[in-house]
Amino acid sequence: MTTRPRILTGDTPTGPLHLGHYVGSVRRRVELQDTYDCYFIVANMHAYTTRADKPAEIRTHALEIVRDYLAMGIDPARSTIFLQTEVPAIAELTYFFAMLLPFNRVMRNPTLKDEIQVKGLGETYCFGFPLYAVGQTADILAFRAHAVPVGEDQIPHIELTREVARRFNQMYCGVSDQADDDDHESLGGVFAVPRADVGAVGRLVGTDGVNKMSKSLNNAIFITDTPKQVKKKLGKLYTGRQSPTEPGDTSNALFDYVRTFIPDADRVRELETAYATGADIGDGHIKVEVAEAISALLAPMQERRARYEGDDDAILDILRDGCRRANECAEETLALAKKAAHLHFFDRSLSYR
Ligand code: ATP
Ligand code: MG
Repeated sequence: MTTRPRILTGDTPTGPLHLGHYVGSVRRRVELQDTYDCYFIVANMHAYTTRADKPAEIRTHALEIVRDYLAMGIDPARSTIFLQTEVPAIAELTYFFAMLLPFNRVMRNPTLKDEIQVKGLGETYCFGFPLYAVGQTADILAFRAHAVPVGEDQIPHIELTREVARRFNQMYCGVSDQADDDDHESLGGVFAVPRADVGAVGRLVGTDGVNKMSKSLNNAIFITDTPKQVKKKLGKLYTGRQSPTEPGDTSNALFDYVRTFIPDADRVRELETAYATGADIGDGHIKVEVAEAISALLAPMQERRARYEGDDDAILDILRDGCRRANECAEETLALAKKAAHLHFFDRSLSYR
């Protein structure tokens, strides 16, 4: 294992990856591959929190997400891509960390509350649904990660993770409750207190113009979308503007897209000025320009992705190797945590075929 600082982040296989994932988290991961020891989790158990009745779909999405990673520039030679369910230390730590968190503290998490509302889970969600927030603390801490590249919605989860790390280190490793977060490891804590590393665009709005772009909300532009599909989806983006000569509001969703995807800063400023003054520029025209910029971004990704199309064995090889590396790290963490908490009785090792 290297001595570089570690990052852990990942995605739930509830569907294919979209532009929100790219600008919110994956682009940052690609940048960090050479300076951090990178672990990317396909959180397939978490997908069961809302889709336990669709196991085959979750499995397919898990493999597709790896294809999306490769398409977006994650390099399995430099980064470890793995499946949550093949790293048992994560499940063990989840159970353990659940003892360190008051029940009400977990339920107060605003991201959970939002998800319950936006996904219409009502009162019927399973016990495992709120447990996933605890599970996510284990995903991160199993790798003793220092940073977590994520979108804005994940900040409450990272805060929960920081609390677990502090509590564990204080309770079992003799770290003072006055200690600075950055000093926990050097003071003998098993866990670093990890920080959220939010991408340049922390929350990309969906093509509904209202909600966060999300796999589950039918408002996403996927990495695999053709230029025609991109154009069609953007065409539906509602701005409320009536005519090309009506001064427009450049804080609307369409202009979030302009600023995020049109690479030429001068052109962005030009469009902003024209729009704000109602200088005869229609929403439709801007949408076409944004759609072209997005398709230009996606074209090389789709080309890379095509190399892995239909070849599940190649994806499984990457995952097998990733799971092996992930377990090396997570098993070491688990042993350290169990020793600290007086739960270590025997040594063990895992292997994959
Ligand atoms: P689901 O609807 O199943 O929750 P999701 O689209 O919200 O799916 P997640 O798997 O929950 O995706 O998120 C994976 C990562 O991508 C997280 O770091 C999250 O913050 C980031 N992310 C997801 N959607 C966006 C978005 N619209 N803008 C910025 N970041 C995003
Ligand atoms: Mg989500």
